Amino acid sequence: MRHLILGAGCAGLSLACALLDAGVEHPIALVDARTTFGRDRTWCLFDVRPTPFAELASHRWSSWEIGGVVRHDDRRPYLRLDGADVYAHALARLDRAPNVDLRLGESVRTVGDGLAVTDRGELRADLVYDALSLGSPALRGLRPMAWQTFLGHEVEVARPVFDPGLATLMDFDVPQPAGGVAFLYVLPFDERRALVEHTVIGTHAVPAAERRRAVDEHLDRRGAGRRTVTHEERGAIPMTVDGPSRPGPRHAIPLGVAGGAVRPSSGYAFGRIQAQVADVVADVVAGRTPDGRVGSARTRALDAIFLRVLAAEPERFPDHFRRLAERVPAAPLARFLGDAGTVLDDARIVAAMPKTPFGVAAMRVPGVAPVGGRATVDPWSGDG
Ligand SMILES: Cc1cc2nc3c(=O)[nH]c(=O)nc-3n(C[C@H](O)[C@H](O)[C@H](O)COP(=O)(O)OP(=O)(O)OC[C@H]3O[C@@H](n4cnc5c(N)ncnc54)[C@H](O)[C@@H]3O)c2cc1C
Repeated sequence: MRHLILGAGCAGLSLACALLDAGVEHPIALVDARTTFGRDRTWCLFDVRPTPFAELASHRWSSWEIGGVVRHDDRRPYLRLDGADVYAHALARLDRAPNVDLRLGESVRTVGDGLAVTDRGELRADLVYDALSLGSPALRGLRPMAWQTFLGHEVEVARPVFDPGLATLMDFDVPQPAGGVAFLYVLPFDERRALVEHTVIGTHAVPAAERRRAVDEHLDRRGAGRRTVTHEERGAIPMTVDGPSRPGPRHAIPLGVAGGAVRPSSGYAFGRIQAQVADVVADVVAGRTPDGRVGSARTRALDAIFLRVLAAEPERFPDHFRRLAERVPAAPLARFLGDAGTVLDDARIVAAMPKTPFGVAAMRVPGVAPVGGRATVDPWSGDG
């Protein structure tokens, strides 16, 4: 049994490590176009279930804020993992394994029946996993209902304006774009250092210059004084409930972003990827062919409602999220956002929402056709 993992990012590396941890000794090849693993992203998640890599968290916040509503939960903190730490940990694990072949600087061109064609030739395996994220053939032509796009600055500022105990998940006090909702995301590392990220969920591009200005204006409002940007991170995540088509026996198993692991209502993916990988490995160990399915029908339906409401009335979204934060206690809200919600948690979320437009959107769920049109633009078009 040979495993071929296309894409050595979050999902690909997580899968390789999990296969090794499960005692798989068959050959595992990973292919990635990249040649280095640097600090290209931070992963944050609620600590709502045991998750591989969680012990690498560089920061933990027990208090967090949405739309000015502060919540506190010592038992389910919000974690921050530095991408570089996760990569280093995973690569060290792979390095120790004699059955792993990590092929970097190799681009995948097509994926077929038990094989991938790369710029170096053909690779064959019994199980092929597509963890190519936006580079996946499975996502070609995908028109998500919305994009979550973000640009963040890690800053060091002159004055001690940040509260290191409080993570701001959504601060809607920024100019709102057409066709979407914008918010700032602030993760303070100490009183003078923080990640301040401008995020948009919507169908239209917002130029990078405008985002940088929003971050700057926020720091001005806080009276942060002189600042140095120590790092910039940016990204775009498709938010959709369409998902990739599930593999037949002749196709690669889609994982991570390519496998629909992004939670459409929140954009969180890291925890879901770990759950998806765990299911795949359980299938492999049991001798079943994995399908990479992620999330329950219940959460998919709930997410579809969220996206519909967003598409129909983006300007009301800040109020909806504030309302959620006010009416739903910290634990069920963290579990919902962390994709570990129980039936009761989800019922609480539904009960907290205004009956219209959520009721209207709910009635349209089975077809999951968008109310307000799909995102057709390149999320970064218009960038200068
Ligand atoms: C900047 C950023 C911050 C994020 N922060 C969070 C967060 O805080 N919390 C959260 O839950 N989620 C977050 N996400 C969303 C999600 O967790 C990440 O996108 C995650 O990395 C997705 O894992 P993946 O394996 O699907 O894709 P990736 O990690 O992007 O891996 C895909 C890999 O495929 C390779 N590749 C692509 N095309 C080809 C090709 N043709 N040939 C060869 N190799 C190819 C790439 O080089 C890459 O290494 C963030 C995303 C970004 C971009």
